[in-house]
Amino acid sequence: MSARAPGEFASFPRHALEIVRGEGAHLWDSAGHRFLDLGASHGTANVGHANPEVVGAISRQARELLQLAGSFASPVRTEFIRRLTATLPAPLDRVFLSNSGTESVEAAIKFARAATGRPRIVAALRGFHGRTLGALSATWRPEFRAPFEPLVPEFVHVPFNDPAALAAAVDDRTAAVLLEPVQGEGGVHPAADGYLREARAVTSARGALLILDEVQTGLGRTGRFWAFERSGVVPDIVTAAKSLAGGVPIGATIATGAVEAAFRGSHQSTFGGNPLACAAGSAALEYTRREHLAERAERLGGLARSRLADLPETVVREVRGLGLMIGIELRERAAPYLEALRSKGYLAISGGAHVIRLLPPLVIAEEEWADALEAVRETLGRG
Ligand SMILES: *Cc1c(COP(=O)(O)O)cnc(C)c1O
Repeated sequence: MSARAPGEFASFPRHALEIVRGEGAHLWDSAGHRFLDLGASHGTANVGHANPEVVGAISRQARELLQLAGSFASPVRTEFIRRLTATLPAPLDRVFLSNSGTESVEAAIKFARAATGRPRIVAALRGFHGRTLGALSATWRPEFRAPFEPLVPEFVHVPFNDPAALAAAVDDRTAAVLLEPVQGEGGVHPAADGYLREARAVTSARGALLILDEVQTGLGRTGRFWAFERSGVVPDIVTAAKSLAGGVPIGATIATGAVEAAFRGSHQSTFGGNPLACAAGSAALEYTRREHLAERAERLGGLARSRLADLPETVVREVRGLGLMIGIELRERAAPYLEALRSKGYLAISGGAHVIRLLPPLVIAEEEWADALEAVRETLGRG
């Protein structure tokens, strides 16, 4: 058994589990074993696997209309955009819809360049923004970049959480600063509030835009609906994807009216804003709001921080995170520990070679989360 079918391009490592079903925070393999999905399938299952309200919305919409050219008006798209902008501060009210996180970042880069008439994008060391060539140029990890060079010119990387380095990098060639409020793939590093405030101040002062990539941090994950809410900063562009449509592919680039007014050029997507994804997205947004999943993430994240506070220093360097986005940085490689957790029925993921990343569905039952934290403690030598 493997995750890759015969003939499938070798882009993911082989994995011995064949998963056939999901419900809430659980996944089942083809042999009938149940697992707790502590990675929420890479952050896409905030509202749980096969969330009944998302499934219901998709089923109803599939009978009406699956796909529609963006040149036609669609009540389902109108409704989704209304619900999405209602979660954001007032200036962020122009939504471009696509089909993935990397596409949401591509659009943000294009909007920033075309709205400012400037070429340069300033991103951060350890940052991750996707794998298409524009987004990859903003992604930092050398292993992800090197085979595909030369990438798009005028992308520079500065140390994360270093306001002075950021201020020094932004000038009148800078179209935008692009940051994750919590770096996810790079190992779960939260931005200091002061860092985001400095990013806002320096971009505003120098006529550049601030883009916050909330593809992983959005939709309640960090204990707020959007992670940037903690900092009091309002960016010019926000990107979202992963859990935005409850597990159906989607990307959204949300900009201010000022960005839209200054934008010269065209950017479109055939499937972006399709009725199926929009119906799923409205259901996921409504569920997240009504069930107070951000508050839940804050509370269950607090539980994790207290349960993981006394892990042995011989193994664990640091525990970091916000809400239900938690990184446990080890002094050794994470892979054997992930393997040990998997043998106990817990599927966690890594964030770089040395970080165990916990990103459970926000609907995880409190007792199951407590059990999972106990398993993590045991695996790392406490409990
Ligand atoms: C996952 C991720 C992306 C890329 O999303 P895809 O849907 O895989 O293209 C971009 N930015 C961040 C912050 C991410 O976590």
